[in-house]
Parts: sequence; structure tokens; C-alpha cells
Amino acid sequence: MAIVEAPKQFPTRLFIAGEFVDAADKRTYDSLNPATEDVIAPIACAGKADLEAAVAAARKSQPEWAALPPARRSSLIWKIGDEIMKRRHEFAALEAMDSGKPYKECHDIDVPMAADHFKYFAGVLRSLQGDTIPVNDNLFVYTLREPLGIVAGITPWNFPLLMAARKVAPAIAAGNAVILKPANPTPLTALLLAECIQAAKLPPGVVAVLPGKGSEVGQLIVEHPESAAISFTGSTSVGVKMVRDAAPSLKKLTMELGGKSPNVVFADADIETAVKGAQAAIFYNKGEVCTAGSRLFVEEKVHDEVVEKLAARAAKMKGSNPLDDECRYGPQNNKQQFDTTLKYIEAGKKEGARLVAGGARMGDKGYFVAPTVFADVKPEMTIAREEIFGPVLAVQKFSGFEELVEKANASEYGLAAGVWTRDVSKAHKYAKAVKAGAVWVNCYNWYDSAVPYGGYKASGYGREMGLQGLLAMTQSKSVWVQL
Ligand code: NAD
Repeated sequence: MAIVEAPKQFPTRLFIAGEFVDAADKRTYDSLNPATEDVIAPIACAGKADLEAAVAAARKSQPEWAALPPARRSSLIWKIGDEIMKRRHEFAALEAMDSGKPYKECHDIDVPMAADHFKYFAGVLRSLQGDTIPVNDNLFVYTLREPLGIVAGITPWNFPLLMAARKVAPAIAAGNAVILKPANPTPLTALLLAECIQAAKLPPGVVAVLPGKGSEVGQLIVEHPESAAISFTGSTSVGVKMVRDAAPSLKKLTMELGGKSPNVVFADADIETAVKGAQAAIFYNKGEVCTAGSRLFVEEKVHDEVVEKLAARAAKMKGSNPLDDECRYGPQNNKQQFDTTLKYIEAGKKEGARLVAGGARMGDKGYFVAPTVFADVKPEMTIAREEIFGPVLAVQKFSGFEELVEKANASEYGLAAGVWTRDVSKAHKYAKAVKAGAVWVNCYNWYDSAVPYGGYKASGYGREMGLQGLLAMTQSKSVWVQL
């Protein structure tokens, strides 16, 4: 066991016009460590006046930013990626302390991936170009790709740094200014990112970071007449409200919402690999993953074997301090999520699902919940239908391809899907039939800055990452020249 040292000093104030400042009304709120329930630090809490200051700075700096030669914009954004990697330990330790994610995961996955988002978009922005369109010999017609103006990024608490990078990188790459509102429970790494942006010397005002309440500053951003677009990641219920609130100002929206993803094990799969994959698919980041493989469908012939092996693996998982570099399983991110997860576990028991692992909190300090597996789950049970966003797996049995597809698609969500089989043709047929924005075959939860990501159905619309993510931050203008 080796507890890593968390930074003693880190930014806790709002980032507006290139400076860290108190909230205009001096309000703060406490950010908590979910492993100990202790206060980490008071954080400045943004309100209306702070938002107006951030909008004014963005309005002033965005034209200058958009007018920079792409090569120059690219090199400044690349530097942000370098700054993140220079401070990899600080990011990983703050994230572990603030979110409950294991330090090692943050260090090995989240931080390098966040840096890569900046480097990917720094590179690909130089390919942003228009078309020439043949119309007739007397006209020269071409298109320009232009930024939207001021874009807002509103993020959840489960991958705080990664989500912040996913919002900021493509938006600034396309020449926009960004106002980022991180989730209330996890502001620390978004504010440290602001230090990297400061160090990279972007024009002040191009990026603002405003921690604060969703129902206050979040809602004000959504309703603000000068924000041209909202890139949101969060729950479907908040997303639906946001679509309504943004309608009067006709904002462009990208909605990355909830999920209840089906993960399938066919009898011909490599069972050991599939079991390990199913375990990681649901328990990675303590189930607080929008794409979590929370509905597991197992073919009848191997059902009992898979359930037994999964239950044994789940029972061996122990929670520990996320700052311990040997920690592989942390606490739920916050008290509300902890209560929600336990409430769903009770619903599973009450509605008659068979509990084969976990089923209760772990220890008596911190928001730890034991990795939980329910078998004999019926499609109509609450745990089979609703997004739990915690470490609770609902296993169902199937016996044929048609039945499987029908069951897998019987969800309001459509974010992701997994399938484990040695039969290539079955894998591709399933990938085509399942209604989801991402399908993993014999693997789960792979991401890359270059691969577009987003949901079907109530999991949202629009795509982030990849070229599609960059284009989403632009608008097209057609120019007609009479020759
Ligand atoms: P949430 O919807 O409660 O909050 C998300 C963000 O929206 C926070 O910053 C919050 O402060 C803000 N917000 C809340 N009310 C608002 C309002 N009225 N106006 C403007 N902003 C408002 O979600 P959460 O609890 O932080 O995160 C968990 C949810 O996020 C889960 O449903 C999960 O599936 C989803 N999620 C989706 C993806 C994806 O890529 N599809 C990724 C991660 C998480």
C-alpha cells in the first residue's frame, strides 16, 4: 500500500478573463472527499454576475482567437495537452480525492486521454476546410466553416477531467470561446485545467471555468441569449429540461445522456474473457459510467457458469482509499449517488431478483457500495429498466438471436452495447441489430479521441470526438460569386 501525496495547493476560484477570481457575491460551497466524507476545500460558487463577466470576456476574445492562423491556434492547444501531462500526478491525485476514482486509473487513463483530446483536436483543426461547389459557369460557389461563437460545456461528475477536455478541446479548436460549468461535486480538475490554459497563454477570455449549481448558473448559461451552443453530458432528465430551456434562443445542442447498455455473452464465447469483460463493463469506475454494461444477457447454455464466475469475481473486489496507488475500486462519487445505488439494490431484492453478490454498503465510512450482481432478473423489474449509475448488474437469460435482439433493444436508452462471441457473423449481425451509438465486440469501454461518440434514443443526440465532434462546433456558410 502506498498512499500518494495529494497537492496541498490547487485553484479553488472561478476562472474568468484569464484570472482566478472570487465569486462576485463571495459565495462558496464545499467539495467533499467521498472516501472520507471530509471537506477538501471551499470552492467559489458562480452566479449571474460571474456568468455575465465570463460572457463579456468571451465576446471580446473570441473574434481574435478565431482569426489566428490555424497553425498558431493548433500550437497553443497542443501546449495545453503538454501542460496536462507535465502535471499528471497533480491531476490524478486531485481527481482521486474529489471523485473517488482510483489514482492509478486517473493517472494511467483519464489524464493522458484528456491530454490527447487537446492534441487530437490541435492536429485535426488544420483540416477544417470548405468545399467548392460547381453550380454553373458564371458562378463561383464555396463554403466556409466558421465557429459558432460562445459555446457552453456542462459536465457530469463521473469523469470530471475527461469530460471537461471533451467539451473544451473541440470548441476552441474550431475557434469558439467556451464557458465550462463542471459538476458541483467535482470542480478541482476543471480548475487545474484552467491553470494549464493560462500557462499555454491562450487569449484571456477564450475559456472560462465556472463551478456552481446546475439549477442556478447552469440554467442561466442555457438560457443566455449569447451562448450559441450547449454541449451537455449528464442525465436524461436534466437534458430534456435543457432542450426546453434552450428552445427560445434556438441553441445548437449536443446531448450525451444516460444509458442502460446491454452486454451479451453467447455460449460460443471464450467464457473466462467474457466474464472478466462483463465484470469490467459494470464495475469499472464503480458503475458510474454512462456506457456501463448494466444489463447482462447470457445464453442459456452458459448462464449458470457465467453467473457463478461473475459472482465470485465481484465478491473478491474490495474498496479502498482512491489515493492508494493499489486501489482498484473506489467509493460512489457523492452521497446522493450512494443513496440512489442502495435504493436500487433494495428494489432488486424487493421485486424478487436473486442476489448473488454484494447487496449492501462496504464498511461504515465513505460512500463505498459492494459490487452487486442480481440473477433471474425480469425485463419489467426496476433494476432492468432504470439507469442506476452504480455497481449493480442485472443478469437475464436468453435462448435465441431474435429473442436476444428484442430484449436488448427493449430500453428507452441506446448509448452502447457489448457482445462476446467467437462467431464473426453473429457479432456483426448483432452489431447491426442493436440500437446503440457504440458497439464493442469481445471488448468493452474502448474510447479514442478520433472515434465519434454519442447515443441513440433517450441517450441523446449529436456526436463528440473525432471529426464529427469538431464539425459540431462549427457552422457552414455558402458564398456565391458572380463571375
Ligand atoms: P446531471 O444531469 O444531474 O448533471 C450534469 C450537469 O448538469 C452538472 O454540471 C449539473 O450541475 C448540471 N445541471 C443540472 N441541472 C441543470 C439545469 N437545470 N440547467 C443546466 N445545467 C444543469 O448528471 P450527473 O448526476 O452529474 O451525472 C450522471 C448522469 O450523466 C448519468 O445519467 C449518466 O449516464 C450521464 N452521463 C452520460 C455520459 C454520456 O456520454 N452519454 C457520460 C457521463 C455521464
